[in-house]
Amino acid sequence: MTVGDSMTADGAKALYDGFGRHINYLRLSLTDHCNLRCVYCMPLHVPAFVPQPDLLTEEEIELVAQAAVGVGFTKFRLTGGEPTLRPEVVSIVRRLAHIPGLGDLAMTTNGLLLPQLAKDLAAAGLRRVNIHLDTLHPERLPQIMRWGTLKRIWAGIEAAEAAGLVPIKLNAVVTRGFNDTDVVDLARLTLERDWHVRFIELMPLGNDQCGQLSRERFVSNVETCRRIMKALGPLTPLPNQNPSDESKNYRLPRARGVVGFISPVSEPYCGSCNRMRLTADGKFHLCLLNDDELDVKAAIRSGGGMAAVQAVLSRAVALKPTGHHLIQQVLVEGASTEQRHMFQIGG
Ligand code: SAM
Ligand code: SF4
Repeated sequence: MTVGDSMTADGAKALYDGFGRHINYLRLSLTDHCNLRCVYCMPLHVPAFVPQPDLLTEEEIELVAQAAVGVGFTKFRLTGGEPTLRPEVVSIVRRLAHIPGLGDLAMTTNGLLLPQLAKDLAAAGLRRVNIHLDTLHPERLPQIMRWGTLKRIWAGIEAAEAAGLVPIKLNAVVTRGFNDTDVVDLARLTLERDWHVRFIELMPLGNDQCGQLSRERFVSNVETCRRIMKALGPLTPLPNQNPSDESKNYRLPRARGVVGFISPVSEPYCGSCNRMRLTADGKFHLCLLNDDELDVKAAIRSGGGMAAVQAVLSRAVALKPTGHHLIQQVLVEGASTEQRHMFQIGG
């Protein structure tokens, strides 16, 4: 196996990084704006957003996706900030969904705008959504997601389900003192519904209050898992899990849905990482938990076409770091990124 261009066993194009990992999943951030301010992700006052001319246009996003498909990427996810705030979001979905060879197109969203958008997004070719919901307690939700309400997010979940953006996957970031005891009610949702409810360990990104809060209020998924089992019974691991799925999936007794644990700190999954990230301002961000980036927007705007984008992408894949230092950063001190917060990368 070599770094860079190569072939899979069935003869398809594929990119491998310097550690032999097959990289085929691209997360595309559409914006750094958000209509929420989750305490661990985004400061209340953001000193500067990406100026409009620095955002990749929808044509440029399409070009990057076409180039990525050309070198073997098959899975794509739109994220942000809040991707549904991008006025051209439906048109971007339509453009990407029409790229021959693009296998899967999903979105991670806080759901607030899905009542207006879910139908159009599904019609444009979006397959699924992951919706961010930290608690089912209406009074606690604004303490953690700040500008959101349970009623509005719930309406978004229902709209997504009605539009066929399924299976619905809910993401809850477990934060000590905010929602660590709410995990049981969230997991209980899977008894009646065929949803996936996934619990995410906090990661310290950004060298300020978000990074500090994420360190101070970290809750291991070992604790979350124990809390759920104590209240709801044993969690049985699901067979045939996809090795590059960051979520370890389980089922409660007689449940219709799935309980998942995403544990980048207590159980890092760097060895099976298959992803690359594109920021809204046109950088390939090599690893979520590190500041290294390569500028693809400059390559496009200096006249480079598909071949130039593919060259930057191949280089970015080849340079992907082997892993991160989250354990030390949570237990001792430090943030994984100095330059960017989570809302500026996309999770
Ligand atoms: N706004 C959308 C949302 O909230 O789903 C998409 C962007 S958001 C940055 C993507 C995901 O990052 C969220 O679903 C949330 O679960 C996760 N997230 C944000 N900050 C985090 C942190 N400090 N640690 C772990 N996960 C975080
Ligand atoms: Fe916005 Fe998503 Fe970050 Fe919350 S996690 S502030 S919804 S980008």
